[in-house]
Amino acid sequence: MPETPTKSMDEIVALCRRRGFIFQSSEIYGGINGFWDYGPMGTELKRNLKAAWWRDVVRGENTGPHGESVHVVGVDCTIIMNPKVWEASGHVGGFNDPMVDCRESKARYRADHLTVLGASDASARLYAFIENDTDQRERAVKALLKYEKCEALDPARHIVRPFTQLTAADRARCIGPDAKDAGTLTEPRQFNLMFKTNVGAIEDPSNMAYLRPETAQGIFANFENVTNSTRVRVPFGIAQIGKAFRNEVTPRNFTFRSREFEQMEVEFFIHPSEATEWYSWWRDQRFAWWQSIGLSGANLQLREHDRDELAHYAKAGAGTSDIEYRFPFSAPGFGELEGVAHRGDYDLQQHAEHSGRRDKMKYFDAEKNERYFPHVIEPSAGADRGTLALLCEAYTKDESRPSGVYMKFHPRMAPVKAGVFPLVNKDGLPEIAEKLFKQLRKRHNCEYDPKQTIGKRYARMDEAGTPFCITVDTDTLTSQAVTIRHRDTQQQERMSIDAVDSWLSDQVGEG
Ligand code: ATP
Repeated sequence: MPETPTKSMDEIVALCRRRGFIFQSSEIYGGINGFWDYGPMGTELKRNLKAAWWRDVVRGENTGPHGESVHVVGVDCTIIMNPKVWEASGHVGGFNDPMVDCRESKARYRADHLTVLGASDASARLYAFIENDTDQRERAVKALLKYEKCEALDPARHIVRPFTQLTAADRARCIGPDAKDAGTLTEPRQFNLMFKTNVGAIEDPSNMAYLRPETAQGIFANFENVTNSTRVRVPFGIAQIGKAFRNEVTPRNFTFRSREFEQMEVEFFIHPSEATEWYSWWRDQRFAWWQSIGLSGANLQLREHDRDELAHYAKAGAGTSDIEYRFPFSAPGFGELEGVAHRGDYDLQQHAEHSGRRDKMKYFDAEKNERYFPHVIEPSAGADRGTLALLCEAYTKDESRPSGVYMKFHPRMAPVKAGVFPLVNKDGLPEIAEKLFKQLRKRHNCEYDPKQTIGKRYARMDEAGTPFCITVDTDTLTSQAVTIRHRDTQQQERMSIDAVDSWLSDQVGEG
């Protein structure tokens, strides 16, 4: 059994606000549910994550399962596309979540996220809670025990089951997660998650359009353009980073489930006979990548999907797996960071059919004289969930430090790579420190801070997760050396001022 988390989500959210990582969108007007803004620190962090992804996935020197070099090119498509794209992809007809309303609290939940707990006999009360929400589950258990006047759950009497399995009679004796009375939860109803808008001056169903709910379809819709305009040959990938929008029924858990978020997706096109090798290759590659940017083994897991939860496009193919992180709000459970799926040729077939371009959209292999729809392996990651996982992983309490907490970001991800300080604000030290700062800043995001005591300056940098602090002191005037303080060990070393620039580049790597 994994350990219970010691990190508090409330504390992480508070630090994010205090230090300019993440703010509620339009906070001065009371915010808007499911939308978040990144402040100066958060913007750098998220940019570092996306830059590392692009560098490693698109421009990386990767070797495929047969020793070949892996070729990926990028696109940048629009958020609003011809609505026929979403009919072809299945989103107009199928991108629905079953939704449940609470008549008492007015809260809305995804039916497939609700679990109920209670005695098996038909007259007993049932208590609903949101699966993977530790607080809610505990509240439901407490309420049940109080109602039944017993000390502990009894496996012979109490059962746990999905809300979607309840009959109307069961619902009548069920108490919602935020309700006091029984029977206030409605029957699940379908709800399309796409945001609608109108293109042009007149609001009319004829010019209705959608904000894209995923970046993948822009890639498929451009498959023919990319193959015709470049020298790509199967196997190859097309990558995209961009915004996606979903009118989530219950946005929650900070940025984890937002209504506007960013995805980092690759559609990797392969010959159908090679699906198994490429699926395993991408799954393992992506799992290793999240570890390489600082998510620890204990909090990261790879979960292969059961057959019955495969998405509509995933045929009985090579498989689907999720890379999951144990967030403080999901612990001891995990939340999805990235899905890796064998999508077969579903999307290309659908677009070929709906656009009437049938054979033209097939890939032609001139060497083998073969025309076919390639199969697709799709690693689809969330930039916001990734950023949130980095924040949760980094949050480290340390009562011995003045800040009480420090953010242990991997140096490649850290928003600020180095803080540059003059020990005192006189004797020519600020001039030397500022000169060094300006030199380092050409390549790395650094901060110059001449104010307050050195201890307070270290504390500020610890809270921002800055891996190195560089101090110019009076000795620098004669020795030309500066002090480097390491965030995690708090140890210090002296280094020649001329060596700092290339040393820092080695430490933080490339974006
Ligand atoms: P979930 O089951 O959590 O709703 P999903 O399986 O629908 O997610 P995908 O459609 O596979 O998600 O999207 C790929 C990635 O996009 C996810 O792994 C996640 O990182 C990100 N993502 C999806 N929905 C959201 C959201 N509402 N807020 C933030 N990120 C999201």
